[in-house]
Amino acid sequence: MPGPAPSKVFVITGPSGVGKGSLISLLRHRIPELEISTSATTRSPRPGEQEGVDYHFLEKQAFLDRVDAGDFLEHAAYSGNHYGTLRSEVDRRTGAGSPVVLEIEVQGARQIAESMPEAVQIFIAPPALESLKERLEGRGTDSPEAIARRLEVAEGELAARNEFHHQVVNSELERALDELETIVRSKLSESGQ
Ligand code: 5GP
Repeated sequence: MPGPAPSKVFVITGPSGVGKGSLISLLRHRIPELEISTSATTRSPRPGEQEGVDYHFLEKQAFLDRVDAGDFLEHAAYSGNHYGTLRSEVDRRTGAGSPVVLEIEVQGARQIAESMPEAVQIFIAPPALESLKERLEGRGTDSPEAIARRLEVAEGELAARNEFHHQVVNSELERALDELETIVRSKLSESGQ
């Protein structure tokens, strides 16, 4: 008899400021069994961010040592810092049978597409670049220089949208959330999760 289907991995990608984080936390209210992998980063914590909850905050050398040790499923330099998904974060959840969500930028999503082609890739797109700018400014967490850098990167990221299995345009939060939920539920029911 075949064993149980392996747990699903969902990669949610798209430009910074597109609302990936908000969509994922709302999605978890609707599908509580979804688990979120906590990424590692070398950027400094923002006010209110907690070690081990929002990120594993690592010094640059510690991050690079873990890259050398092969601890990351994917990692990328983004806007002057390093970000990466620790294998242990994903393995312990899939090992326990839970579906896992990775919220990552585009370079990392491409790496996962290569190494885990069975992962479900979902690209969240903004209705327009202008709305990203408003959101990044409204969030008030980044300097004008950091925002300008993120917007530059975002232009390149938007060009990548067609590379991924699914696209959800976040023009209206509720609608985007409904679409995301439909995709995730259909994949979970395919795998019997
Ligand atoms: P922020 O600094 O705003 O928290 O994150 C910046 C970007 O890095 C966002 O697009 C976020 O999705 C992405 N990111 C967060 N964690 C990871 C990760 O583990 N790997 C990769 N490749 N990107 C990540």
